[in-house]
Amino acid sequence: MKFINTRHQSRVQFGIKRQLLDAASVCSLLVILLILSASRAQAAVPMANTVKEQFSIFEVAMENVANQYGRDNRQVLTQLQKIEPQATALKDFAILSAYRCYLTTQLKDMAALQTALANLKNKAPENSAKPAVQAAIELCQMYAEEDPQKRDQHLARAFYLIKPTQAATLRYWISTMYIELTTKQGRARDAIDAAKIALGIARANNDRFRQAGSLRSLAMVEVDFGDKRDALNHIEEAVALYHEINPTWSNTTGLLNRAYILMSLKRYEDALKAYREVELVAIKQKEDTVPPIVWSNYADIAYAQGNFQRAHKEIKRLLEWSEQHKDVFLNSYAKMTAALLAVESKNLEHAQALFTEALEIFQKEDHQVEIRDFYGNLATAYFKNGYYKQAYAALEKKLELSAKIEQDSRGHAANELRELLKTEERIKENLSLQAEVEKSRLNIQRWVFLALLLLLALAWSARLFLQARKRNSDLLVENKELDYQRFQDPLTQLFNRRYVMENSAAIWEKIQHQSAAILIIDADHFKKINDNYGHPAGDAALIEIARRIKLTMRDSDIVVRWGGEEFLVCSFSCNAEQARLMVGRVLEELRNSPIEFSGKTIALSASIGYVLAPLHSSVKAQMSGPMSGSIKGQMKASINFDDSVQLADAALYLAKTTGRNRAVGVEKISLSQRTHTELCEQLAQAASAGEVQLKETLGPVMDVDKNI
Ligand code: GH3
Ligand code: MG
Ligand code: MG
Repeated sequence: MKFINTRHQSRVQFGIKRQLLDAASVCSLLVILLILSASRAQAAVPMANTVKEQFSIFEVAMENVANQYGRDNRQVLTQLQKIEPQATALKDFAILSAYRCYLTTQLKDMAALQTALANLKNKAPENSAKPAVQAAIELCQMYAEEDPQKRDQHLARAFYLIKPTQAATLRYWISTMYIELTTKQGRARDAIDAAKIALGIARANNDRFRQAGSLRSLAMVEVDFGDKRDALNHIEEAVALYHEINPTWSNTTGLLNRAYILMSLKRYEDALKAYREVELVAIKQKEDTVPPIVWSNYADIAYAQGNFQRAHKEIKRLLEWSEQHKDVFLNSYAKMTAALLAVESKNLEHAQALFTEALEIFQKEDHQVEIRDFYGNLATAYFKNGYYKQAYAALEKKLELSAKIEQDSRGHAANELRELLKTEERIKENLSLQAEVEKSRLNIQRWVFLALLLLLALAWSARLFLQARKRNSDLLVENKELDYQRFQDPLTQLFNRRYVMENSAAIWEKIQHQSAAILIIDADHFKKINDNYGHPAGDAALIEIARRIKLTMRDSDIVVRWGGEEFLVCSFSCNAEQARLMVGRVLEELRNSPIEFSGKTIALSASIGYVLAPLHSSVKAQMSGPMSGSIKGQMKASINFDDSVQLADAALYLAKTTGRNRAVGVEKISLSQRTHTELCEQLAQAASAGEVQLKETLGPVMDVDKNI
């Protein structure tokens, strides 16, 4: 008697759906999907590995609204308006809008539905919409659509869109509707898959109400396409959960489903007991739409058991009720069973008329599985009663429909596959578009960041560079200062002896290139100045001597305080003639004007020894051994800097010993048998011998000299 089962399974499911859609009763579809069970509030912390399925804070808030005002759609809409500002995430706004579309459909306020849809589209233009938003748009379009086939297409698209998202509530909702769609189309695999998705979300959130709902859905799919034992286990689990959630309120949908599964297992007595239980509960809970469903199943069980009288009785009250309440579906189910009973009564014409009437609504809604099962039931009834020709025709029709459903099912699946591919492409496009936008945004950010970093680095290095440069120049200045200090005589501000010592090579090179006169100037009787006028007067005299020497020289000349009252001068580009003029001027400068110090007039004079450099001489080589003293020791060489200075000093000594206030210059050295040292020591003799050419320049003779 499989036909009864199949037929009733569909009837019960569909019948319930209709009831739910028409009345805002506790067991409405939305209540199943959205109303929060008492358990939601006490939901335990979900497991970490299922976090992706987690409901958002906004979704929970929305469910609280549904839970509190679920019986009044208008109130729910008003309350949703209040929590809308909390829907900051796009996916939260998506679920809110989808819920609005559902509620406005229930209120038959199509203008409000279109507004909700427009807001949703507006908020998320297609090219940037996230799959969850696109799914919500499909769902709203489904509610707005009149054509059942187009409605199914919207739902299928919504399912594929929502499948990979994390919008848990919407995913649960769409999945449960997709279970019904695929069941209607005879697509067991897809229905079971969708049921498992719903169950997964429910379990991840420890949402017992949804767990019960999805277990119930799974059971109803299994009873039709899978293992009926699994179906019974799952429905028992669901019923137990419903009881656990609220022991004072029974879930009549679960109870109806359990009774149906028992019936499909041909446990008619258990099924009748279960139907009686749900009928009593429904009366107690004032769920007026439930008893007629129970009557319909009483009739079917009675028919299956051959209790036609009982079946007639049940059908009669079902027809009356459904006509009175304008429930076209229950009316059609009633007429279908009435047609079967008419066959049993051998009233074929009446049976055919009832059957045609019964088909009408199912054809209109494109419920091919129902229609196929009706034909199957009819064929069995004809066959049982010996109407083979009619049985054959009905069977042929059933097979034809089965093939069509099979084909359609495959077609639906294929269509959905195509939709899926298109949708996936769209998602990928959008995602890649988003990724592009994101990438370019990140790129811009990265470039801006890098540019800033670069600027910062540049600014920093510029600062460091400037600092370093400043430090370097400071150091240079400091170094120069130090050098200057190192090489400067503090009293006279002239170069000191160290300067010459450390730069003798460079000075000598310059002398060799340009020629020069090297002078050593020594103040005459300076000790007396100190003795006569005091040390400070001596200092003042030294300062003045230095100033006057410096004044006589060119800027490029080197003037050095060589020792206490001795000065060394390197006057470059200087021939013998210029040297004589120069030393004469120095002598004059010092001698002509005495200095005034503390009211005292201090006469000055100096003696000068000088050489013209470089001097070439053929002096005796200072060698020892077999060559010593021989003519071969005679060599022509240029006198070096130190020797030149030494020679100038020797000339100075001559100037001192010959009367002071004069200059003695060595202008030339000829062939000499003397060593350099000998030459210096015996300069006067050497001059007499004609080995050196000396030049004496006298300083001015003053009256003061007579006083000294
Ligand atoms: P001569 O003509 O032979 O050079 O006689 P002199 O007295 O100049 O030479 P001597 O070498 O005998 O004495 C040099 C004096 O110069 C001795 C020293 O006190 C003095 N003197 C050296 N340096 C300074 C100085 O910085 N300040 C002062 N006030 N006197 C100095
Ligand atoms: Mg001296
Ligand atoms: Mg002196």
